[in-house]
Amino acid sequence: MATFLFDKIIFGPVKSRRLGNSLGINILFNNAKYCNYNCVYCECGWSGEHEELFFPTASQVSVELEKYLKSLSSDSIKPDVITFAGNGEPTLNPEFFEIINKTVELRNFYLPDVKIAVLTNATQLNNPEVVEGLNKIDMPILKIDTVDQKEFELINGPVNNITIEKIIDMIILKIRKPIIQTMFLKASFDDYYFDNTTKRSLEKYYEVLKKISPEMVMIYSIARDTPMEGLESINLHKMQEIGEEIEKMGFKTIVTP
Ligand code: SF4
Repeated sequence: MATFLFDKIIFGPVKSRRLGNSLGINILFNNAKYCNYNCVYCECGWSGEHEELFFPTASQVSVELEKYLKSLSSDSIKPDVITFAGNGEPTLNPEFFEIINKTVELRNFYLPDVKIAVLTNATQLNNPEVVEGLNKIDMPILKIDTVDQKEFELINGPVNNITIEKIIDMIILKIRKPIIQTMFLKASFDDYYFDNTTKRSLEKYYEVLKKISPEMVMIYSIARDTPMEGLESINLHKMQEIGEEIEKMGFKTIVTP
């Protein structure tokens, strides 16, 4: 199915289902996806092998961002949030920390009311600079789709023996104000059987949320093309039920069908 890659560093603002007007920053390669997960629903398509590809540097990113910020006029659509997303996992950029520092400086100077968000799979929290960068911004949005290792491997396709237990532990230990994002979905074909909305899956997921005590939880389901065909999205009624359960635990929840 059709998926999508960005061909530049700055894009948008685009209307985000969860974030409002979002100015996107892609700090991965142009036109190629780079991630240590291979999520079955990834809008960028499947992760692949790469040779001779280069990350945008901190100075390239800040030049491009400043150019955009200087171009804003009173008629421009102002972003609500500056969001690091793009062609894969942003914390894999080796200059992630410098990029965040420069972005915070530019934001403070040009658009002090705008929030900075990073959409991350949280696999790099063993790197102190990534942790410091994520704790500096307003919205570190961390992916936990399931807390079950087998389901995690089917849905997220992690490389290098990454375990969801380790990721959860690192979030609890290292991120001061985590926002958790969860994609709910199911599949039942060939070797792919999973459903992260079963009673058993959800009970374990709620227990983990209590331990993390997130600032906010963002839950959503499939709304766009996915690289794997045959995935099923979760209906709005079920999503709202899950959202209400999370709210009952005292965590603000945004439900996006
Ligand atoms: S973590 Fe994000 S970028 Fe990486 S495969 Fe999953 S959805 Fe795609």
